[in-house]
Amino acid sequence: MKARADIRDHRRLSDADCDFIARAERFAEHFIRPNAAGWERNRQPGLPRDVVAAWAESGLLNACVPKSHGGGGASFLAKIGIVEVIARQCIVSSFGLVNLLNGPLRLVQNGTDDQRTRYLPGLMSGKTIIALCLTEPQSGSDFAGTATRAERVNGGWKLIGKKAWVTHGTIATLGIVYAQTDPSRRGKGIACFLVDLAKAECSMSAPYTLDAGSAAGICDLTLEGVFVPDSDVLMQPGEAFAKALGSINAARTHVAAMCCGVVGEALAIANRYAHERTAFGQSLIEHQGLRFKLADIAADLEAARQLTYRSADLVENGGDGVSAAAIAKKMAVEMAARTLPECMAVLGANGLKSEYPLARHLLAARIAAFADGTNEIQKDRIGRLIIEG
Ligand SMILES: Cc1cc2nc3c(=O)[nH]c(=O)nc-3n(C[C@H](O)[C@H](O)[C@H](O)COP(=O)(O)OP(=O)(O)OC[C@H]3O[C@@H](n4cnc5c(N)ncnc54)[C@H](O)[C@@H]3O)c2cc1C
Repeated sequence: MKARADIRDHRRLSDADCDFIARAERFAEHFIRPNAAGWERNRQPGLPRDVVAAWAESGLLNACVPKSHGGGGASFLAKIGIVEVIARQCIVSSFGLVNLLNGPLRLVQNGTDDQRTRYLPGLMSGKTIIALCLTEPQSGSDFAGTATRAERVNGGWKLIGKKAWVTHGTIATLGIVYAQTDPSRRGKGIACFLVDLAKAECSMSAPYTLDAGSAAGICDLTLEGVFVPDSDVLMQPGEAFAKALGSINAARTHVAAMCCGVVGEALAIANRYAHERTAFGQSLIEHQGLRFKLADIAADLEAARQLTYRSADLVENGGDGVSAAAIAKKMAVEMAARTLPECMAVLGANGLKSEYPLARHLLAARIAAFADGTNEIQKDRIGRLIIEG
């Protein structure tokens, strides 16, 4: 069993899909591996623009857009592979880059022909950077509790409110903003709008000061009556809430894949170290107790991978993706929380040194616990499905 295995070792993918994953691997090696520790240490406020530009130039930005819309036509399984190999170097970058991959897809899946004509070229070339704005200062998990108001005005809507945890807030030019049109309808009143973030009525805060996740460039967004024409309503009231929940299975599968990627890398580092370091006259790997630790990590990782790839199959081909995605995310997040400290333990005190990325990976893996539904929310979902039978 290879510690660095990924979806290519588990699922049959087309040559084109494998090529996209290999491209992502080269991109991560070139742009992420040498820089990720420095970004975190220096509190880099978001991914540098040259990295985003290189991502676009590599052809990865539009990899998952269907060929009929001018994209690369990569499968969802390939997307999972891309996410996983980037996360091996940096989970935070993987979050940021998957957001960029999702930008054009949201337009393809939900936009009108007119919206696609106006926005897709910019999104696919990397000139337009999208930010997804659901979370608010007072509500994250409780999406139906969205308080940002959308008020009907002549020819469109006015948005008033505040969004929190906006990834790419430092570089985004276009917001996908969820807002409430009728509080009495809770989720059914929520609509989704394309918002030009350059407008004077939109203001981003300074990026959050984070000990993990600086490169995601996270900000608050304040909307002070920004006008959105009817032509920029991406999802109407009554459909936005359901569609957001519909896309969550894919998002949860991405997060599970990130956990598998980062643990695969940490296990490879621990394995290498255990071969090189000696104690009591033999290499660490020759001590059975140490081998058992690596065996436990490898078994945990393999189980999480199987759940992640099963979820990816269901998201792509239809089936009970809700339960599979919630289970995959829950198990992969817990697996990372359990195994990353164990990988560090193999290196003894050296595991704390910055020359190894393990402490950075450990902290960044906590992000996976919150994004796209906390583990309590996954368990709530799984529990409800059990009750429903
Ligand atoms: C790095 C990062 C990037 C992010 N990027 C974005 C982004 O781009 N756009 C965006 O909109 N959001 C983003 N988020 C926000 C993310 O989606 C929220 O953090 C997430 O939805 C959880 O919301 P919350 O943090 O407000 O926690 P809360 O909802 O306040 O929950 C607090 C605690 O209560 C628990 N809890 C809540 N409800 C229940 C329940 N019913 N049963 C049991 N326990 C419960 C939660 O599990 C959690 O432990 C990002 C978050 C992070 C960490």
